[in-house]
Amino acid sequence: MVSTSLNDLAEIDPNRDLLRGENEWGGCPLEVTFECPKCGQVSHHSPIETAAVVRCRGCGNEREVRSDSFGEEGLRKCPLSATEDLYVQKDFPQGLGLAIVIAGFAVSTVFWYYDRPVPALGVLLLSALADMALFHIVPDVTICYRCLSQYRGVGSNPEKRFKPFDLAIGERYRQERIRVEQLRAEAAKTGSTPSSGA
Ligand SMILES: [Zn+2]
Ligand SMILES: [Zn+2]
Repeated sequence: MVSTSLNDLAEIDPNRDLLRGENEWGGCPLEVTFECPKCGQVSHHSPIETAAVVRCRGCGNEREVRSDSFGEEGLRKCPLSATEDLYVQKDFPQGLGLAIVIAGFAVSTVFWYYDRPVPALGVLLLSALADMALFHIVPDVTICYRCLSQYRGVGSNPEKRFKPFDLAIGERYRQERIRVEQLRAEAAKTGSTPSSGA
């Protein structure tokens, strides 16, 4: 039994849905990017707020979308792993901002070497401005501490509910993932179910 909304799970451009209608929170539909716990394949699904299940495009494994994860204002918790612990970060590679500053610094050094202080300072200023501009233009992405699923679109961080990454919470969930992996490995070795483990 496959609903029509599942048919667009194929290769999609993450920005595609920004052009397609509005959701109930007055913007682009919420999109989830998730990793399949069975085969590790990364899939997208949009809109997540009206879906009953999401399906892996690798192995077809289906995961339930808990409808109580959405409030009137948007996302309340992770619909795939039911935790309220989510964090926000800028939706671009973590090192990109740093790379811009370092590149600016490198070019500036060359100008200093040739005794050209004005362009040297100009390049530094420009790279700092580019970094700031990038920070303001690029939207946030909301990420689940437990399953690392990513949520994009209007309603992904209502009323700035979710905060930037917290090391203590992140560590707790990292330990949890390690533990789950261990139980899985043990279960695979003994051929029993994880519940019979430690
Ligand atoms: Zn899969
Ligand atoms: Zn989750």
